[in-house]
Parts: sequence; structure tokens; C-alpha cells
Amino acid sequence: MTTRFDHILIIADIEGSSGCWNYRASSFLTQEWGLACLGMTLDVNAVVTALFDAGVRQVTVKDFHRTGYNLLPELVDSRAQIVSGYRSGPVPGLGDPGDAQAVMFLGMHAAAGTEGFMAHTLTSRIMWLEVNKKPLAEVELFSASLAPHSVTPIFFSGCPTACAQARAVIKKIDSYPIDKSAGPELFDVDSWRSGLVSGALNSLNNVATEPYTPSGPFKAEVTWRGGDIAAQNLARRWGFDQDGARIFIEAADIHELYRDLIRLCYLTPLTVRILPFGLFFYNLTGRLGLAWARQRLKKDKYLPQTTRRTQKIENRQSN
Ligand SMILES: [Zn+2]
Repeated sequence: MTTRFDHILIIADIEGSSGCWNYRASSFLTQEWGLACLGMTLDVNAVVTALFDAGVRQVTVKDFHRTGYNLLPELVDSRAQIVSGYRSGPVPGLGDPGDAQAVMFLGMHAAAGTEGFMAHTLTSRIMWLEVNKKPLAEVELFSASLAPHSVTPIFFSGCPTACAQARAVIKKIDSYPIDKSAGPELFDVDSWRSGLVSGALNSLNNVATEPYTPSGPFKAEVTWRGGDIAAQNLARRWGFDQDGARIFIEAADIHELYRDLIRLCYLTPLTVRILPFGLFFYNLTGRLGLAWARQRLKKDKYLPQTTRRTQKIENRQSN
């Protein structure tokens, strides 16, 4: 069997996965989060296995939620490469996409300040983010950061609002929604997941999309949830204009905009200087957190006790 794409990149988030039903489940080191990791992993695995069975030769999965350590690699088809934690570049957070030709987004959420399940952009500390007068969703930043590497966005899954936002900016992208409005008790995870798999497989025939390259310049308005003083400190730190809780960023192209937003949300001038060092400790925290979640899932009998074989698989995870 052959498909149009030999190498698929999956960017996986947790909010729009079948395992995450509230804020605690997206947080770090909560019992709900452990279960969300499990749900997210099973969603990703279902898609990964189907892609290989359909003839895709290589699948790389980038864990893109919070610490970047949420997926349990021992539960994912061993043919896939899982990339956990964060890298500074060339693609921010992700590193080198290699020869991936297409990207699928799983478990995503809607843009900050919009309707939708746990809507945010980059951090929940941003209350509202508009770029050139429109809300900005992460799918735009992530897709644009992959465009110089000729990676085409073909598939997106998240809440219905997130799907609509993705389709509005990335023409012809395939999407498959997760509707959480009725709550977890009434949610049929098996049938939803098989729909996710069919949607992802259908998108292998998507020849209509192209790498996403929006043209600048960009004027961003960021409303900071922490209020005026926090916004003032952040704006001064990076030399951005500010008025009350609003911070203004001007960028010539989308890559500059993404870099500035990453700085605003996650970094300080000091951590930029010691970034490799900082990332090492951040990734270590993520790795330890996931080990904690795994033990917790075992204790609560959601996962079998460790055997020597699963230990080996756990150690396979890249950092
Ligand atoms: Zn997330």
C-alpha cells in the first residue's frame, strides 16, 4: 500500500482529547491529569496505528501540551517516534520536523477569548488575543512555523469551535470535532475515536491544502489576565507598547510574531540567554511528572504493574 504522504507529523494536545473534561485534567500533577494523559494517549495511538496500517511509513508524534510529557509511550504503537518535551528550534518547541510532509493536529482547542472548550492561545494567562483584528488560534502559529519545512496541515481535531477556526484560516483542512457539551458520562469514546481514525485516514487523500504562509505585517493586541501591573512589567521587559492590561506587538512576519508571543508567555531575557539549560530542567520536570502520573495510574489499576518489557519501552521515550 502506498499513500501520498510517507511521513506524517502529529501535533498532540490534551484539551481536545477524549481524556480531558475540566481544567484540573489539563493541569500538572493532578489525578484528573493522569487520566487525561491516558485518554490522549489512546486517541493518538488509534490514529498512529491506522496510519501505519494504511501504508504511511513514518509517523512522528510531538507532545505539545504544557510540559510536553503527557503521552505514555508504552501504549503507543512502537513504529511511531514520540518526541516529548521542548526544543528551541528550528521549529519553536518542536525542533527539526525532518522530512515530514504533512501535519495532523489532535486534541486541540479554540483561540483565547472565544467560545469553545477551554479556549486559550499559548497560555491561559492571555484573556484575549487578536492579530490584525481577529482572534488568533494556535493552529495558525504551529502551521506557519512548519511552512518553511514544506509541511502541509491536512487534519485537525478539537471542539467544534476550534475546528471552525482551523477551517476558517487553513483552507480545505479536514476536521473532526469532539463535542463535550453533554459531559463525560454520556460520551461514547469508542465511537468518537473510530470517527477520529476515519477522519485522519480520509485526510491522507487531502491534496487541496498547502503549507500555511500568512503574509504580514501583523499587529497583535494581547489582553493579560493578570491585569495592568503584570501587563506593564511584561511589556517593559520586552519593549512592547502597553495600555492597561493590553500589550501591543508589531511583527513583520508570522515567525517574528510567534517568537515575540513565546517570549511574552514563557520567557525572560535571562531565560533566553540560558535557554538550553532552562529547557533541560523544564524537560526534566516534565519527565518526572509523567513518571508520577504513570505510577498513579498503576496504583489505581488503570495500567498494569510494570514488567521488564514495559520498563524497557518506558525507557525508549526520547527527551
Ligand atoms: Zn494543551
